[in-house]
Amino acid sequence: MVGWRPSPRRYGRFPGPTLAAGWTPVKLAESGGIGYRRPAMAETALLTVDNLTKRFRAPLSGDTIFAVNGVSFSLGVGETVGLVGESGSGKSTIGRAIARLLTPSEGAVVFAGEDIARWSTAQCRTLRDKIQIVFQNPWGALNPRMRIGRLIEEPLKLHSGLDGGARRQRVEALADRVRLSREALDRFPHELSGGQLQRVCIARAIATKPRLIILDEPTSSLDLSVRADILDLLAELQRETGAAMLFISHDLETVRFISHRVLVLYLGRIVEMGPSQRVFERPAHPYTRALLSARLPVSGRRGDRVRLEGEIPSPLNLPKGCVFASRCPIAIADCLQRSPGLDPIGADSAAACFRLGVV
Ligand code: SF4
Repeated sequence: MVGWRPSPRRYGRFPGPTLAAGWTPVKLAESGGIGYRRPAMAETALLTVDNLTKRFRAPLSGDTIFAVNGVSFSLGVGETVGLVGESGSGKSTIGRAIARLLTPSEGAVVFAGEDIARWSTAQCRTLRDKIQIVFQNPWGALNPRMRIGRLIEEPLKLHSGLDGGARRQRVEALADRVRLSREALDRFPHELSGGQLQRVCIARAIATKPRLIILDEPTSSLDLSVRADILDLLAELQRETGAAMLFISHDLETVRFISHRVLVLYLGRIVEMGPSQRVFERPAHPYTRALLSARLPVSGRRGDRVRLEGEIPSPLNLPKGCVFASRCPIAIADCLQRSPGLDPIGADSAAACFRLGVV
């Protein structure tokens, strides 16, 4: 995001849980390799995802596609965790599995102390006011036949128990909060800009005072200046409400500044995780380095470009060794035979690579 540099101080730093202590080995579902399971939920953890796996059946061949494969992480109260990776890395599938818009094939999703991974559709309805999701495309997320005021009121009708007058007051307060004019409440979606519509989606998301908001590429379809406003708004709302946020994006600059911690995904697996500042300034995994060198020419790394060559393996036929081996500039023969698990790096980070520190 050229021209926009919010101060990291403004967003603070979240003291991520210690990764080194208490992790236990776990067999990866697809490859038989070894990953690592996070220890028991930290006191401040609102969400703990443990060995989350999502498989789909290919429609024609019936083959198994691993969209997400053995992903584990936690999200603290008031924390923002960024999920980054290329298209097809499993980011959105993880978000939808946590919101229970789809059912995980394996693993646990412990939200506020309860494993919701196998909850029935009826049980999942009780989550709708606690976990909200904001999608990339606000045009597709809003009913074009409803006025904006009614759209913001909808979740309040379903979940708040407020009467009509109180709901109207709350709708107006929400519009003020997301910096939407009162006049816009009487308009239809096609009469608003993309940035205004995303504010409507955010107002709907915060209407029920959720504890977790999943933001799936919420600024990708917006202009740069609008993007910065929306990010400012999200950061303000988080400070006010203490809601945890899972921020899914391929836009590394955005993730860098809004996230306390970052998870880097490749073909459905976490290949690196750690505090945002450490990951962006001292990436440990070759894939993270390649992503950053391609998209983020920050000082000290210009000219240090890592080009990714080679084919991305098909999710229908994942290799038994490291999934990144076909594109990795520092792969060795062993990488084709064994799959690396996430190894702790210091107290608050981890990466899945046999050759950490080689480059
Ligand atoms: S394990 Fe090998 S192939 Fe995989 S990222 Fe590390 S060096 Fe590259």
